[in-house]
Amino acid sequence: MAKIINVIKGTKDILPQDIEQWHRLEEKALEVFSKYGYKEIRTPIFEATELFARGVGDTTDIVNKEMYTFEKSERSLTLRPENTAGVVRSYIENGMSRLSAPVKLWYKGPMFRYERPQAGRQRQFHQVGVEMFGIKQPTADAEVILLAVNYLKSLGLNDLEVEINSLGCPKCREEYKRKIKEVLKPEFENLCEDCQNRYEKNPLRLLDCKVESCKAIFEKPEIQKVIQSDFICEECAAHYKELKSYLDKLEVPYVENKLLVRGLDYYNRTVFEIKSNNLGSQNAVCGGGRYDSLVRNLGGEDTPAVGWAMGMERLNSLLPEIEPKKLKAYIVSNYPTEAFSLAEEIRSFGFDVEFDLANKKFTKQLEKASKVAEYAVILGEDEIKNNEVSVKNLATSNQVTIKRNELKSHLL
Ligand code: ATP
Ligand code: MG
Repeated sequence: MAKIINVIKGTKDILPQDIEQWHRLEEKALEVFSKYGYKEIRTPIFEATELFARGVGDTTDIVNKEMYTFEKSERSLTLRPENTAGVVRSYIENGMSRLSAPVKLWYKGPMFRYERPQAGRQRQFHQVGVEMFGIKQPTADAEVILLAVNYLKSLGLNDLEVEINSLGCPKCREEYKRKIKEVLKPEFENLCEDCQNRYEKNPLRLLDCKVESCKAIFEKPEIQKVIQSDFICEECAAHYKELKSYLDKLEVPYVENKLLVRGLDYYNRTVFEIKSNNLGSQNAVCGGGRYDSLVRNLGGEDTPAVGWAMGMERLNSLLPEIEPKKLKAYIVSNYPTEAFSLAEEIRSFGFDVEFDLANKKFTKQLEKASKVAEYAVILGEDEIKNNEVSVKNLATSNQVTIKRNELKSHLL
């Protein structure tokens, strides 16, 4: 026998027995996002590498370590590690700034990051996300957070915690960065290698470090004092306060977390995450924030924007398992020609139905029917002769013989 070829590490098949859960995530996304005026956008899975280098930021782990990059005809291309950069590229390229604001877009699909595979972390995974362009007011921040919470609720997920923070604007953040660097300077040698590398380029990212020894350092009182200080300027503070007042009014519970800085470079002001206590260490289902400078950085006009992305594998692992859906009917018959046309007739009623293409023994077919369907529709010699069918309700074992033209209403 030929050698078996296996799926690549960090990637997974989504098998038929799991697909209904995926459909539910996708259908609810369409349903809930539509209510808020979002339209779906589908952008390519690969883009110019430069889009992510500039869009996601070249001080991030995603760009530095995690991208699947390849060359084709002397162009450097990359499998998208996230979809905000792609959506922004499309927004600019297709002149969407000419549309009346806000422009509200949503997407779903696979993303690719070369990370260490573990529970809740894959190399090909899926995200569903939203982006809103053109509104600088915190009403937009509030609406996207509300949308995330309501999408999760529509899936039956209530037991989740929203964390928020404000990163301020590039202006007020400079001073904060300087203070963080200053207070961490005596600890530099004790920081992990990643943190030492980030220290100069992206000091805020240090606060996001998951290494225990670094976390312990950040707990020190003199460092906490800086972390917990209110560094944001008056305008940023007003924006943040207004956002919180909307969330309060909307009864969206949240906690403030000053350590929440997010992994991507493009955020300013509002950042947020939604976490579950039922996910183990990879506990974030949703991450997002405001990114007012990204459209300009990618060559567009100055356009405020805010959005989020959710990991669909993590969402799935929180959802209760769905019972596999049964066929409406299974035809039990040893007359394939008749069974074919009866099946087509039942399909034309809008029901799903199958019959035994292998034409096995009657009892075997009945056994199969009771496993896969709600009704067995029996078509034997007598039924064919009298233009009838026998219909067995497989839950109750009730069986009746009816005229063919009564079948539709009977199944309904
Ligand atoms: P994490 O802290 O878990 O690495 P992140 O900050 O890198 O998340 P984002 O880039 O904001 O995540 O992506 C949003 C969501 O996508 C995450 O909250 C998570 O649910 C999911 N996600 C991110 N990376 C992966 C991955 N490698 N495998 C599965 N899901 C992922
Ligand atoms: Mg990550």
